[in-house]
Amino acid sequence: MSKPPLVLIVEDEPAIAELLSVNLRHNGFTPIWAEDGTTAQRELDAVLPDLILLDWMLPGQSGLQLARKWRADARSKAVPILMLTARGDEPDKVAGLDAGADDYITKPFSTQELLARIRAVLRRRAPEHSGESVTVGALQLDPTTHRVHHAGQALKLGPTEFKLLHHLMRNAERVHSRAQLLDKVWGDHVYIEERTVDVHVKRLREALGDAAAMVETVRGAGYRLTAQGQA
Ligand code: CA
Repeated sequence: MSKPPLVLIVEDEPAIAELLSVNLRHNGFTPIWAEDGTTAQRELDAVLPDLILLDWMLPGQSGLQLARKWRADARSKAVPILMLTARGDEPDKVAGLDAGADDYITKPFSTQELLARIRAVLRRRAPEHSGESVTVGALQLDPTTHRVHHAGQALKLGPTEFKLLHHLMRNAERVHSRAQLLDKVWGDHVYIEERTVDVHVKRLREALGDAAAMVETVRGAGYRLTAQGQA
């Protein structure tokens, strides 16, 4: 059996952290609790977790600042981050995704919902089964080495953007609706809103730089990757 996934919980409220820890342990995860950003950083430096559960409201550095910092750090940038936000705080959710979180969950949440989200995020991050490299125009993606090149230049992509690009490249020139992308790229999309797709497409375009125009928005239909859009 493989090792239980390590989940770093960054949460300043002991009661919530305790509840999360107990539920995670019961469901085959190994939880580690950090009550603030400084402690979390120390844990990250010691052992890289498989996933970070990150509370938005923290003493000292906020969850948003931490997400940005960890995304910018070469060592932690590929670790999926699931943000815990206050109820109905829509701008927070979008800002969280923009800062590099893979998903968010609104407090109060059910254990089942949390576990479903954690599993979905981990599944998304799992390597693609098809190990063949894909080329569209000057864009090249290698699933084995997890590398993306455009015109010979290496590009840096987050785990979700990589999976999204991989899917778009394998189905180049085809138009995908947001719902189709959620289904194919996110897999378990029961709790994910279609707006999430837009956020990750925006992030993908930013990461693609000169090749950004290859990801086209098809009005009223969705998105498409095309070799025609190259600069
Ligand atoms: Ca808090």
